[in-house]
Amino acid sequence: MNVLVINAGSSSLKYQLYDMTTENVLAKGRVERIGMDSSILTHEVDRQPEVREVSEILDHTTAIKKVLDMLTHRKFGVLGSIQDIKAVGHRVVHGGESFSESVLIDQSVKLEIRKLFDLAPLHNPAHMMGISAVEDNLPDVPQAVVFDTAFHQTMPPSSYLYAIPTVLYRKHKIRRYGFHGTSYDYVSKRSAEFLGRSLSELKLVICHIGNGASCAAILNGKSFDTSMGMTPLEGLMMGTRSGDLDPAIVPFTINKEDLTLNEANSMLNKHSGLLAISGISSDMREVVEAMNEGNANAKLAFEMYAYRIRKYIGAYAAAMNGLDAIVFTAGVGENSDVLRKEVCKGLTFLGIRLEEARNAIRSSESRRITTDDSQVSVLVVPTNEELLIARDTYRLVIEQPEAASISQ
Ligand code: ADP
Repeated sequence: MNVLVINAGSSSLKYQLYDMTTENVLAKGRVERIGMDSSILTHEVDRQPEVREVSEILDHTTAIKKVLDMLTHRKFGVLGSIQDIKAVGHRVVHGGESFSESVLIDQSVKLEIRKLFDLAPLHNPAHMMGISAVEDNLPDVPQAVVFDTAFHQTMPPSSYLYAIPTVLYRKHKIRRYGFHGTSYDYVSKRSAEFLGRSLSELKLVICHIGNGASCAAILNGKSFDTSMGMTPLEGLMMGTRSGDLDPAIVPFTINKEDLTLNEANSMLNKHSGLLAISGISSDMREVVEAMNEGNANAKLAFEMYAYRIRKYIGAYAAAMNGLDAIVFTAGVGENSDVLRKEVCKGLTFLGIRLEEARNAIRSSESRRITTDDSQVSVLVVPTNEELLIARDTYRLVIEQPEAASISQ
């Protein structure tokens, strides 16, 4: 059974086609510059050169049509017909308090996602365009949605409430939601498998460090706390996002610099973090390169970035009253041995003994980077959000075939 996974943005759309009997990716690609001139479709099938097609793609419906044409293309396709796609799974960033797990799409689910536009104005409207575009092209195929926030719905109120008047929570649902939940779900399960232990007995801190970065305390398989908040701005220092700061800085800066609210928002989301402190780049590779060449600002940015991660690990170890493993994942977490070393060097008090040779190994496999006698293990576990979306979609369609057949 083939499942198509879609991650729709406002002007882009990524896709992966899975064969769920083997969980192999049959094809993957992306459409960029939707609604602009010279849209680009990039398509990749195992070990064959990437195919690039430039054309005019004015909306998401046309984008999905182009993807389906490519998947069934005589030369570059992998399917005999679009009927071979049995289900479609979508990534949706915000599920608010309405969704604590993945669901099949029906009218009420679409209505709820629309209600959440306010909480994720950049993401949820784009995801809805992706969902409608699939409906237009594949009206009889069941669709599921997998929410980035759902995994964190297990957090207790003491983790998710802000210490502000509770009327704001009741009226506007202002609270911590957390993000990267699909990744935490996948990585926590893989980590337990790797450790050969039951997830229900583990205390994990997972550090999802990519362009966007967050940490989560996973207690007995459930999210207990996480560093991102009502939006993905809170918590760790990121590529271009500030992460935690004194909230009084915002009105103070608006006043002193005569900024609009939009400008203040953009400053914190797009012009802060690694980019602001290093003055060089939001990309950790370039910051590390500059640091190695002796750039003092790059060094400071690198140290601040690592220090914030270390602080969250310490806080979450205390929150869970213990720790079995720290897990690094996502672009920076999986690839930057220097960052992992910098984070862990201040954690010897927890009984962490990093093994340099293991940390330096480059691999796409899950691995342990501490010594065998380290009290707390540190792992690198590559994340795979698309596979989790495909698995959830497949499970929902198999478990609820009747619901799936009337889901549109
Ligand atoms: P996102 O999904 O949030 O866009 P990813 O998890 O794909 O991000 O991570 C992308 C980031 O990973 C890049 O911006 C880059 O900074 C970082 N990255 C990738 N490879 C390396 C590396 N070898 N060393 C350090 N950072 C890396």
